[in-house]
Amino acid sequence: MADLRLPTNTIVRPDKDRFLDEDNPFESMMSRFDRAAELLDLEPGIYKVLRSAEKEISVSIPVMMDNGEVEVFTGIRVLHNTSRGPAKGGIRFDMNVNLDEVRALAAWMTWKCAVVNIPFGGAKGGVICDPLKMSVGELERVTRRYTAGIIATLGPDSDVPAPDVNTNERVMAWLMDTYSMHVGHTVNAVTTGKPVEMGGSLGRREATGRGVMITTIESLNHLKMEVKGATVAVQGFGNVGSIGAQLLAREGCKVVAISDRTGGWHNARGIDVDDAIAYVKKHRSLEGYGKGDAITNEQLLELEVDVLVPAALENVITTKNARNIKAKIICEGANGPTTANADAILDEKGIFIPPDILANAGGVTVSYFEWVQNRGGYYWTEQLVNERLRDIMVNSFRDVLKLSQQHKVNMRTAAYMVAISRVSTVHRLRGIYA
Ligand code: NAD
Repeated sequence: MADLRLPTNTIVRPDKDRFLDEDNPFESMMSRFDRAAELLDLEPGIYKVLRSAEKEISVSIPVMMDNGEVEVFTGIRVLHNTSRGPAKGGIRFDMNVNLDEVRALAAWMTWKCAVVNIPFGGAKGGVICDPLKMSVGELERVTRRYTAGIIATLGPDSDVPAPDVNTNERVMAWLMDTYSMHVGHTVNAVTTGKPVEMGGSLGRREATGRGVMITTIESLNHLKMEVKGATVAVQGFGNVGSIGAQLLAREGCKVVAISDRTGGWHNARGIDVDDAIAYVKKHRSLEGYGKGDAITNEQLLELEVDVLVPAALENVITTKNARNIKAKIICEGANGPTTANADAILDEKGIFIPPDILANAGGVTVSYFEWVQNRGGYYWTEQLVNERLRDIMVNSFRDVLKLSQQHKVNMRTAAYMVAISRVSTVHRLRGIYA
């Protein structure tokens, strides 16, 4: 077996302070990676391999716009690590897409897939564009030309995209069709998050919220807190937040606060989550909901509740508000809701935090199920999808908890340790091809 060990003096540790910037998710993520790598005493060779992306592709995307003029967009795809299997990660259409961010998100996917032990590596992609200003036809042409531009990396065995910010089932259907036209036959396993009619998995839409619910219940059980009547505040009432809240309410928890980009609502007697979902379906947001007291998103985070579920944005829990957080559990539905510096304060307060790479991994887990079903050509019932999702979420939670107890570290560090340890073991076994 190849020895990846290098003399310790060759290790180049990054400047720690530079990696603790409050607002940069990449730096937040890397500071956590570094801490876990240090605790694992990761050998410098593998450390260097894991800090770099395997492949970064940038393509020009010329598109004929509806007005007859040609516009040239930039598309990116980054494969961070494929040692454990095909790269997995979403594609976003957004004006803020940039290489640094896509790189960070790709690495995040490597750790997330490894924490839940599904056989995928990590990737992310994006196109710099403003989809809200584009017609359906323009979006389709951007998607197809971007797919053609990165086609050499795509494939069920190499790189399997999914929807992300501003992309959806329809975009995945175009991507799958373009890829299939190029290779000459239908390949639905080239992407996940497809419409169910063309190979999407039952239960995928609810999977991340369901994972958040399962992780919250495991956390309550671990802390020996009653599930029935446990009070919950949820920031963000989209796919993850609304379904997480709905499923927690069905388990007997009392959801006392919800919010979206228009603000929040607090009702100590409990919010009827089904009713709030119906309201949002009709009015497109919680604006004017009115069944409780109006609160701001900042106030929601500081409520006296058992469980706080941030399920909207990154960097909402920072050094500025961490001291005021009163929840006993923070179940991270969103990616990167807590900054690295805030972690230390929350630790001091003894708050139990199942981190994003564990708590919101239900989505990628059912994406994996979709890929498995596509490859097997045999489709599962929703009940089977949900049972298998539960098994994976519960086992992953317990793996992370066990390591956190063994090493006396918090759940976030333990989750990174589980992930890095799984990825680095495969690197050690595979050795370095030269
Ligand atoms: P979504 O677009 O369906 O919902 C986002 C919600 O956040 C909306 O209710 C929106 O109004 C609210 N929001 C936006 N800006 C806000 C603000 N400034 N303050 C408060 N609320 C605000 O998105 P989603 O799919 O539910 O994703 C939410 C988070 O979960 C993101 O961080 C995403 O990366 C993460 N995530 C999603 C999935 C998934 O499968 N959907 C999987 C893993 C992680």
